[in-house]
Amino acid sequence: MDILSINIPTIQNITYIIASVLFITGIKMLGKESTAVKGNFLSALAMFIAVAITCIGIVNPLLLFSGIIIGAIVGSIIALKVKMTSIPEMVALFNGFGGLATFLIAWSEFNNNPESFFQSALVMITLAIGGITFTGSLVAYGKLSEKLKIAKTSFITKIFTTIFYIALAFLCYSIFVTPFIVQSFEFFTILIILVLLGGIGFVLPIGGGDMPVVISLLNSFSGIAAAFAGLLLFNNVLIVAGSLVGASGLILTVIMAKAMNRSIGNILFVGYASSGTSATSEEQGEINPISVSDAYLILENASSVLIVPGYGMAVAQAQHTVRELGELLEENGTEVKYGIHPVAGRMPGHMNVLLAEANVSYDVLAEPDDVNPTMDVVDVAVVIGANDVVNPSATEEPGSPIYGMPIIEVHNAKTVFVLKRSMSSGFAGVQNPLFFKSNTRMLFGDAKESISGLVSEFKD
Ligand code: NDP
Repeated sequence: MDILSINIPTIQNITYIIASVLFITGIKMLGKESTAVKGNFLSALAMFIAVAITCIGIVNPLLLFSGIIIGAIVGSIIALKVKMTSIPEMVALFNGFGGLATFLIAWSEFNNNPESFFQSALVMITLAIGGITFTGSLVAYGKLSEKLKIAKTSFITKIFTTIFYIALAFLCYSIFVTPFIVQSFEFFTILIILVLLGGIGFVLPIGGGDMPVVISLLNSFSGIAAAFAGLLLFNNVLIVAGSLVGASGLILTVIMAKAMNRSIGNILFVGYASSGTSATSEEQGEINPISVSDAYLILENASSVLIVPGYGMAVAQAQHTVRELGELLEENGTEVKYGIHPVAGRMPGHMNVLLAEANVSYDVLAEPDDVNPTMDVVDVAVVIGANDVVNPSATEEPGSPIYGMPIIEVHNAKTVFVLKRSMSSGFAGVQNPLFFKSNTRMLFGDAKESISGLVSEFKD
């Protein structure tokens, strides 16, 4: 029995190292289409091994397994019920639950009376990052699902933002000035309230096109909070897994900010909040509608076509039909490429995931920098449910809320088809002058129905 109890921590640590190696290998494999599925499996296996080995020698197995079973049931029900278009909101919620878990760990560690300065500081930092991630993610969920409609410049937003800064100041004070005061219940309670309200204030003033950066930053925070929780609990695999999520989330945040052509500091501390000129339904001239059969005639004669998908393709679930259209065009001798904007859709990589699901080869996917220089030789740019990411105001109108954001410059193509249901604006809430350009034809209707119509014309 003695030998067993001595060996369990050693066995656990060796297993944690194996799980960590699997995590790292899995993440690396996610970088390539051909190895991504295996990479995902390896990472899931690593998580299973890490959880299973942690359960060994646990003091209260009943409590642990109750937690695992309740979590698994709730998670499975949500995952099975969620619509494809709501995945981004679900990801935001999952980030939030990660934050909540670490927040609760820090709270329980506080009750164990941290004795050293290091332990005390760790409790407060973990609590703060976890709490901000939790409530911030709830706000992100509300914004993505369009259930929360508090203006970025409203008085309420300003109050919460002020609380966020107070929370940060209070955290610094508690760490650097009075680390042991935190052990007073009142002080800790104030910190809890401030970080929870501060999380709301962190995300409320950020909106419009800047949301992708916040989503990836919250994802990174959930990892960083987990890594801190790992330090608190002396749990190596939590430190490694948390650091991996934290670091990859930060890299993604930088990529997203670059895609918006904005610095992270600018997004977080200035944001679009102050600029807010939103021209939701201003008339900007005449539009030129087109029918499916006329669009077909133009496409049939095109030698190069650029397909630009956006959030509307996800809503319409049109990715399979889009792939079919692409194949028919290629059979007809047309060169087909897909222009993928990094912030198209509602979560990082949204379009890549949908197109991969429809078996569109990665080789034909191109980034804005690759397609923009040769846009003038593209015969037809087919914009499928994209709006903000092809809005020329971003390059032409200095007063626009999205000014400065790199776009896919479809307006420079010879002809542009815009497939959408109405003249309504995109996520950033700004009107799109592309719709009124002389080379643009509006193909109104659900994207899947319009594309299916084009596919039928080609087959006929
Ligand atoms: P947008 O949100 O700008 O536009 C989507 C368009 O799709 C709408 O104009 C809508 O018009 C159309 N649409 C909706 N449903 C359908 C349908 N069934 N058939 C055809 N069209 C449809 O999308 P983009 O992809 O261009 O831009 C993404 C925006 O979301 C950016 O502002 C980005 O910053 C933001 N964002 C991105 C995140 C990310 O991580 N990628 C996260 C959070 C926000 P209509 O209603 O007339 O059909």
